[in-house]
Amino acid sequence: AYVVAEPCVDVLDRACVEECPVECIYEGGRMAYIQPEECVDCGACEPVCPVEAIYFEEDLPEQWGPFAEANVVFFATI
Ligand code: SF4
Repeated sequence: AYVVAEPCVDVLDRACVEECPVECIYEGGRMAYIQPEECVDCGACEPVCPVEAIYFEEDLPEQWGPFAEANVVFFATI
């Protein structure tokens, strides 16, 4: 699945939400989150993010590693 990382925090541009064909990007608090079980790995959201906050989970820069889990945890708690 794709993952939203730290650059989204307090930006929440929402361009990705418009782009996602399966509507699996949700707003939560200070950033957006991708529902990993609904994401079909199409990659459409990645290039439209103005702050480059979205990465395929295996390409997630190391410093944002915890955001992969944060996306999963977010959906486990709602
Ligand atoms: Fe939605 Fe595709 Fe992005 Fe997954 S990769 S969140 S399905 S736009």
